[in-house]
Amino acid sequence: MIGAGVTGLAIGSVSGVPIFEQSDGPGGICRSYYLVPGAEDPLDHAPPGQEAYRFEVGGGHWIFGGDPVTISWLEGQVDFRVHERRAVVRLGSLGLTVPYPLQAHAEAIGAELAQAVKSEIAGYGEGIDGITTLQDWLRVSFGATLCELFFFPFHDRYTAGMSRSIAPQDDYKSPAAGGRGYNSTFRYPICGLDGLAARLAERCDIRYGKRLVGIDSDSRVLLFADGSESGYDQLLSTLPLHQASAMAAVDTEEPPDPYTSVLVLNIGAERGPACPDAHWQYEPDSSSGFHRIGFYSNVDPDFLPAGCRNGSHVSMYVERAFIGGQSPSPVEIHGYIESVIDELQTREYIGRAEVVDPSWVEVAYTWRSPGSRWRERALQALTATGIQQVGRYGRWHFQGIADSIRDGLQAGEALQT
Ligand SMILES: Cc1cc2nc3c(=O)[nH]c(=O)nc-3n(C[C@H](O)[C@H](O)[C@H](O)COP(=O)(O)OP(=O)(O)OC[C@H]3O[C@@H](n4cnc5c(N)ncnc54)[C@H](O)[C@@H]3O)c2cc1C
Repeated sequence: MIGAGVTGLAIGSVSGVPIFEQSDGPGGICRSYYLVPGAEDPLDHAPPGQEAYRFEVGGGHWIFGGDPVTISWLEGQVDFRVHERRAVVRLGSLGLTVPYPLQAHAEAIGAELAQAVKSEIAGYGEGIDGITTLQDWLRVSFGATLCELFFFPFHDRYTAGMSRSIAPQDDYKSPAAGGRGYNSTFRYPICGLDGLAARLAERCDIRYGKRLVGIDSDSRVLLFADGSESGYDQLLSTLPLHQASAMAAVDTEEPPDPYTSVLVLNIGAERGPACPDAHWQYEPDSSSGFHRIGFYSNVDPDFLPAGCRNGSHVSMYVERAFIGGQSPSPVEIHGYIESVIDELQTREYIGRAEVVDPSWVEVAYTWRSPGSRWRERALQALTATGIQQVGRYGRWHFQGIADSIRDGLQAGEALQT
């Protein structure tokens, strides 16, 4: 199989099939790493004395939801802490921070706006049947007032400007007024996600440093960047669907659906006097362009260097979306980092920044064009050549860690029968 992210680790740990992984460690975008302030190179493991920040490649990864079978399997691997979500929406234009979900706390945005929201609620959902774009779905679901204030500008950033051209999805992330949203509690391993990935990897047969560059689906041979080859009867792949389709040269008759990339800034800093105590904060109007900040150390001070766990420091991840593959240049990233640090310091969230580490997630969020049949065609064409796509990126389907692990367990168990 291809890929030792959480999906591949679940498959490998129940089936034992060989996993080819391009990087030198397990975990994929959930992979944790450690940075000692002042040192250049990241570490895979906490150094003795724990004087390092623990970050994750794709920003903080919290395990939410999940069916009982998957959660019980996970709890059999390592110990977890369960956290009650603290999420907020920062409306810079109003100078307000409101609990998430905003639609359940309209009274917090002021009497006049709350009255406008109240008068629009009766019309929520009207005309939803003919809706084809995310932007229109937001409008009919939440009304003009909340859309102008939050949903339109936030989703414009979160989708890198594509909300008017992509189909609605992830509706459970924006619950109707009165709902608490999809992640009101979440789990995180006490030993860190790196501890969970290491535990699963112990039971897997992983061949690291093997980057797949081509699939000869006629003769069923995998081609790797190091020039080596490997035959297969059946291939399980967690590669993003558009990459697997291109490598196997299958005919999908339609262009691939769009995706967005995310630039994550992992930051460790002195804690400022106005630093929020939220776990994460949605940002429709940050001046430097990010759409969300998460605070690792507000979930658990263990993310901080051991000597800084007394409230003096904070660690966070700051996310900004880009149209798939349109990565900023090193100079642009440098300028962006400066503007983010400046904004966080001006807000007095942080004092001196000790470490700032950018990380690029090429395929972060997958989307559908209205009416597109590309996903179904690609999955079908790959299956016909003996390639089974699994997991969030493999199946081009929004889902979190727990559901990706569930898919992996099911695919791995199917190999046993
Ligand atoms: C910004 C962001 C935040 C998120 N936050 C959360 C969260 O808080 N909670 C949650 O539950 N979920 C979250 N998710 C979703 C979660 O990351 C995914 O569900 C999960 O990581 C999917 O795992 P995977 O193994 O399928 O994919 P990946 O983690 O992408 O693993 C794929 C693996 O394949 C390898 N690979 C890729 N190409 C090749 C190649 N050519 N050859 C060989 N190997 C290759 C990669 O190196 C990688 O190890 C988030 C996602 C993003 C983008």
